[in-house]
Amino acid sequence: MENPSTELFHRLIKRNRGSSEVKTPLLKIDNSEVNDPDKQRGCFMKYFEDLAIPKYKGYPELCTIRHKLISELCSNSTDAFVPFTENEIQSGNNHLHTGKAIDEFDICAEQLKAAGDILVPTTSLVSQEMLMNYNSYVIPKLLYGLEVLPLNNSQLDILKRFHISNLRRFPSLPTRTATCIVYLLLGALPIDAEIHKRHLSLLHNIVTCDNTTIRNLLLRQRAVNGNNCDSFFGRIQEILEFYKLPDIDTLLLEQPSKLAFKYQCKCAIQKTWINLLKSEIDNKSTLKYINAKVLAIGTSHTLWKSLCAMVSEVKMGITKARMVTGTFMTQATRYKFKIENSDHICQLCAIYSEDIKHILLECPALHIVRQILQPFESRSYSFNW
Ligand SMILES: [Zn+2]
Repeated sequence: MENPSTELFHRLIKRNRGSSEVKTPLLKIDNSEVNDPDKQRGCFMKYFEDLAIPKYKGYPELCTIRHKLISELCSNSTDAFVPFTENEIQSGNNHLHTGKAIDEFDICAEQLKAAGDILVPTTSLVSQEMLMNYNSYVIPKLLYGLEVLPLNNSQLDILKRFHISNLRRFPSLPTRTATCIVYLLLGALPIDAEIHKRHLSLLHNIVTCDNTTIRNLLLRQRAVNGNNCDSFFGRIQEILEFYKLPDIDTLLLEQPSKLAFKYQCKCAIQKTWINLLKSEIDNKSTLKYINAKVLAIGTSHTLWKSLCAMVSEVKMGITKARMVTGTFMTQATRYKFKIENSDHICQLCAIYSEDIKHILLECPALHIVRQILQPFESRSYSFNW
């Protein structure tokens, strides 16, 4: 068949099924002749299905390698991740060639083109929605079953690096952003805490279980492996002490309900990590303007609440997040690190050195904008985010 395409396929099927007298009289397939219209349709289908499947060997493996390379490039890149704009995505979709085979995810160009306006806002999710999806879909799969495995430091490091690099990407923060502020800005927990939550949940299931065998196992393991940190009961004892939660004996005696225990653990975990992460803020020079009082685990920073699900707002959010985390590149910073022969002078007023305080409070070129935002200016020089 010359120049086979999706259009030709549908035309042949339509003609073959229609009441028209012009039908395909005979099809020659591998030296055999096919006269029956139903069988002919089957032949057309098989031919086009065969055409749509990549022929060269190792195609799926090549796709996997390609995906891994892209992930590695992203994780090793020192540049901040800048999301595509709606226009860029729309323009990319419009330039796709139709009539081509589906990709390795069974998606064809026609589907992307037809999705148009529905698809574009979905790909421009703000960081909070990304975090919700990440917590709902990625974390449970990533940590599935890890509560029963003794993880060594290098294994934990891999998980920590994966977790923090993902969290940094949601608000497009550069890799130099202090780890503590990434968690507190999003209200997310470190991966250790997520693993601890699963340990505690399993402990509650064991402690409140009516099964005598499991109870006997609990007593035996505690007696034999209570101090062994490679054993579940050794680890859980350390976790309970770390979060100042009741010990196993008290839990066995009190038998708290699932909901009550979950709430108790949640409060203890949040309190412990808020204190730990906030104590790190004091040592970071980039976070000298941060208002630690408004930071919490479980709720995101107020800057996210002011954003709508629009690309322009997402971009504004990225700039705000960088200013808050002290990673916004001012002219003074660029000059300090000798980036591209930069000058420290503000490009708007061309008089003073441009640092974050100058942009927000002092630059004469922005005086009119500042007047509109009068309440902000009234905070004067002792501002906290
Ligand atoms: Zn200026």
